[in-house]
Amino acid sequence: MKTVVVGAGPVGALAALFAAVRGHDVEIYELRPDIRDPSTAPNNTKSINLALSERGINSLRQTGLSDLADAVLANTVPMHGRMIHVRKHGEYVREAQQYDAHGRDLLAMDRTVLNRALINHLDGMPNVKFFFKHKLIGVDFKRNSAWFEDRSDRKDLLTQGPEFKLTFDLLIGADGAHSAVRNHLMKVVPMTYQQEYIDKLWCQFGVPASPHGDFRIPPNYLHIWPADESMFIAIPNTDKTFTSTLFMSKEGFEALESSGKVVEYFSKNFPAVVPDLITEEALHAQFTHNEHLPLISIKCTPYHYQSSGVIVGDAAHAMVPFYGQGMNAGLEDVRVLFEFLDAHPNDRATALSEYTKQRTPDAQTINDLALGNYREMASDVKSPLYLLRKWVEEALYVHFPSLGWATQYSRVTFSNMRYSEVYARSQQQARILNGVVGLGLAVVAGSALVFAGNGGVKRMERSILRGICLAAQGLQKVIQG
Ligand code: FAD
Repeated sequence: MKTVVVGAGPVGALAALFAAVRGHDVEIYELRPDIRDPSTAPNNTKSINLALSERGINSLRQTGLSDLADAVLANTVPMHGRMIHVRKHGEYVREAQQYDAHGRDLLAMDRTVLNRALINHLDGMPNVKFFFKHKLIGVDFKRNSAWFEDRSDRKDLLTQGPEFKLTFDLLIGADGAHSAVRNHLMKVVPMTYQQEYIDKLWCQFGVPASPHGDFRIPPNYLHIWPADESMFIAIPNTDKTFTSTLFMSKEGFEALESSGKVVEYFSKNFPAVVPDLITEEALHAQFTHNEHLPLISIKCTPYHYQSSGVIVGDAAHAMVPFYGQGMNAGLEDVRVLFEFLDAHPNDRATALSEYTKQRTPDAQTINDLALGNYREMASDVKSPLYLLRKWVEEALYVHFPSLGWATQYSRVTFSNMRYSEVYARSQQQARILNGVVGLGLAVVAGSALVFAGNGGVKRMERSILRGICLAAQGLQKVIQG
């Protein structure tokens, strides 16, 4: 069985590993040079560090290579929650919000470290061949053939010149948001395709370690400076630095470029960033020199053609980064894909078709949730109502585990529940919560009337308690129903 993987990013490398441990003859074609080569320039269009969570970790573990997951996890910084930096009544305050009522963490990590660990593992396997600096230029899924352009200096027996053709049993397209494999897939399947550039650009900034060689702000958090229309975040690195990202509209970036008032903007909207994290000079220089990049959201379906090809990761569902799930979802794609391939060992066409059927609603759900989460990060985290709902959901989660209650965030981030089911459960919880709040208000109003009329404190307490009981019973019924 010959499996060709296009793209050696985190998702392609994991897909190659899943195929290789199953004994496939694996060939991996990657446009860029080998990231392990120290002379390779970093890819500036990619975020430097990101948040790894349960779905990604579980997918790494499902390779069966426990030392791989352990090596990756050893190079992470746990983030217990968000730390919100705001001004309240003119005072700068920092507020920590735990991610999970059970204390589970997100893991900050360097994307290259993960990618390198996967590639290193693959490189030691006798049934795996790498072809760096090779660009996919064509695929004929009906004849199981693909064409590549060799941009490397190396020529070997497999490659016949700058352009060459090969054949495969299965081609896995993991070539990112601007996937060439997806473009060729579209020619042979009636693909529904939707692409959106959102109204936010992103720009990265490096925050050095302190002069004493320590973190400048508490390391075990994802730091957020929410400013509604813009947002600044900082994620820790193992070397005591932070990588920060500014998200802002194109117009916002242009206005700052033309006015040059970057420091003034930061001082007004992102308290203490300058000079505690970055000096004025460094902020100016990085704002000017680092790219201001767009954010794309892509939905498509189907993901496969008969038994010969399938797309995974950003190639299938690039999403905006506000749920920290893009790569985690891509790694999960690989686990789910191989579960279907394992379940149908002699019928790959059925396996791929089942994969598309299951994964489409899940990927589309997380795409939508990611779009919606900008608001949560840039605005809601400051709102008392948001915090109240979070508190109620977490209190139910901790004190009434039998109700099966959890926040949407914790299900997305700390479980492997299908994204579509996470969404359905959250909607159900929201309906119940709204009902309970409504009922609670009615009870309080009713009690106040009784109290004002002929009651006493005792009667009011009894009424409120009865109301809470009723609400809880109703809640239980709806959940069990
Ligand atoms: P890519 O990483 O894009 O890899 C695709 C590979 O294919 C590349 O190496 C490319 O060179 C190669 N390629 C492309 N075309 C060809 C071709 N024609 N021939 C051969 N090779 C080709 N995700 C998270 O889970 N958590 C986060 O916290 C997070 N934060 C993010 C922050 C930002 C600012 C951004 C932009 C994204 C973030 N993401 C995050 C998303 C994450 O970066 C992506 O989902 C992930 O990198 C996708 O991996 P991939 O392997 O599918 O694609």
